[in-house]
Order: sequence, then C-alpha cells, then structure tokens
Amino acid sequence: MSIDQQLLRRPSRRLQVGTVAVGDGAPVSVQSMTTTVTVDVDATLRQIAELTAAGCDIVRVAVPSQDDADALPAITAKSPIPVIADIHFQPKYVFAALDAGCAGVRVNPGNIKRFDDKVGEIAQAAAQAGVPIRIGVNAGSLDQRLLAKHGRVTPEALVESALWECSLFEEHGFGDIKISVKHHDPLVVIAAYRLLAAKCDYPLHLGVTEAGPPPQGTIKSAVAFGVLLSEGIGDTIRVSLSAPPVQEVIEGAHVLASLGLRPRRLEIVSCPGCGRLQVDLYRLTEQVQAAFDGFPHPLRVAVMGCVVNGPGEAREADLGVSAGNGKGQIFVKGEIVDTVAEHLIVETLLEHALALTTAGQPA
Ligand code: SF4
Repeated sequence: MSIDQQLLRRPSRRLQVGTVAVGDGAPVSVQSMTTTVTVDVDATLRQIAELTAAGCDIVRVAVPSQDDADALPAITAKSPIPVIADIHFQPKYVFAALDAGCAGVRVNPGNIKRFDDKVGEIAQAAAQAGVPIRIGVNAGSLDQRLLAKHGRVTPEALVESALWECSLFEEHGFGDIKISVKHHDPLVVIAAYRLLAAKCDYPLHLGVTEAGPPPQGTIKSAVAFGVLLSEGIGDTIRVSLSAPPVQEVIEGAHVLASLGLRPRRLEIVSCPGCGRLQVDLYRLTEQVQAAFDGFPHPLRVAVMGCVVNGPGEAREADLGVSAGNGKGQIFVKGEIVDTVAEHLIVETLLEHALALTTAGQPA
C-alpha cells in the first residue's frame, strides 16, 4: 500500500502503556497473553521473549491468585515489552500490579464484586503510578442488570456497560482508559466498536473473544479487525486463538500488514495453481518461504506455477519465479533475467535477492 493510500485513524486520546504509545495515531500495537502459570516466572519470561521475537508489542499476564501477584515484580523487571496485569474477581491484585511496575491493568468490572466501591481507590492508585486501565467488557460476563435490560448480549449492552464503568472512573477524575467490548460474533464486534467509537474518544483494544482455533479464529478476527481498522477504529489488537500465543502475534501482524498498518518484511505472491501447473507449487512455495524467512530486507517474492502468465501476473513483485517443465524462469521487477533447473530455483532467487538489495534498490 502506498503512502497516499494509508488508512485514516479515528482521533482519540493517547495513552502510554510503558514504552508503547496507544491511540491518537500511534502505530496499532499487537498484544497477546501468556499461557504459562504466571507464578512460574522463568516459564513466563521465556514465553514473553518468544512473543517479543514474533512481533508482540504488549503482553498480558493473568493474575488469578496472590502467588501470581507476588510474581509480577520479577516479571516486569525482566520483560522486554510492557506487561499488563489481567485482573478478575479481586480488586486487591490491581494494587499489587501497580506496585509491581505493570505498565497497564485490565479489569473486567462484570467479574469484580463490589467493583464500584473500589473505583475511587483504583483510580487514585493508577493515576499516581501513571498507569492506564483497560475496561474489558466480555459478552460472557456482562452485568446482569444490563443483560436483563437488553434481553441478550447486544452491541448496545456491551457499549453501555463499558461506558458506565468509564463514568465511574471519570467521577474520580481518571481518564487514562482504553476499552474493549468483546464478543465471539464478528458482526456484533463490528457493531459494538462502531457504536463505541462514535460515543467516546478513548483508545480501543480490538478483540473477538472465544474466536476458536485457527483458521476459524483467525478469520473471525481478520474480518472484524479488517472492517474496523479500515474505518480507522482500533488502536491495539489481539487475535484470540485456541492456539499457542506466538501464533496470535504472527496472525495479528499479518492483519496489520495487510492493511498497510505495519511493514511486511516478506510477502510471498504465489499463484493458486490451475490446470497449467507443471511443478509441485505448494512445496516450492514452502521452500521459498523457508529460505527467505529472516531475510534482512523487506521483499515481495512471487512463486508462479507456469511460464505462461508468471512474470505478467507478478509484475508488482520484486523478484520471482515461473516454474514448469523442470525449470524456473527467474524474473526481477517483471523482467526475465535467468532460467535455471528446478532444483536451483530457491538458491538462484536468494542470489538475485541479495544482488537486488545490495544494489540498494528498495524492495
Ligand atoms: Fe495457473 Fe500459471 Fe496462473 Fe499459476 S500462474 S494460476 S499455473 S496460469
């Protein structure tokens, strides 16, 4: 996507989650959540390191017990990315998280008993620590009062719940808030965030909750995030998956790259194949992807399954191959520059990629 096609972003307040700016045009950040037992500090830090390497900007850890709360200082001290404490049920862990140096706290008011009584204390402690709070409303834990009023979990009910909780903080002069309103149905998510975006200027964390395993979960999130982000709505995202969290981060980064909101390091432009195929295209594509994984310059590499339409169909790619009849026509910027035996395709592509990027031609 060229610069003149960049998506406009919804104006919002800006928050600082540790070192990561959120909202008001800051880059959309990718979040995930650790699946380790938080009290196992070494395992949690190992997983945070993996998530960071995959491109995670902000990580959330669950704090379901006092032992987990006690582990937070050791985790925040060594985490390379900001840590948000995820608190359900026990307001006292909010204070522990703030004392532990967490960069943010996520609360689900629907799951915290007597939350309203504690808001003043939480607001004061968070303001003192300079730490934002995420009001995270989930379909499964919607306030019973709102469930009765709306009859079911509607976009309006989710938004009313979130804004009600925000108003409690606002009464105490606290506005360092971001909001999420999650539901398993992407259409409800889209409607809820549109409504929310129109009613407040808080930054928004996008999520489709309980989206399921990939590919279902990925597609649900991509559909909802694609619609919302293309309308400028959304400041951080989490692709919730029943899969290892590193995959959530990778998928989230792909969503942002597809919308031009994050640079894509490697883009494989490969054809779907058809009756003209004369090569094991899927295997060749995998080999090219593996060979270019970690390539130090951004590149768009085409892998086309026949010599008839290859270069023409992949004209926008930096370089590529049209394979067939045991050979590969190598092309750079749409021009055929080489023809090699099939077993030499991948290494020849790498050579041309290096020459292209060493010559300083932007890929
Ligand atoms: Fe079919 Fe060739 Fe197009 Fe691939 S590049 S889809 S093999 S015509």
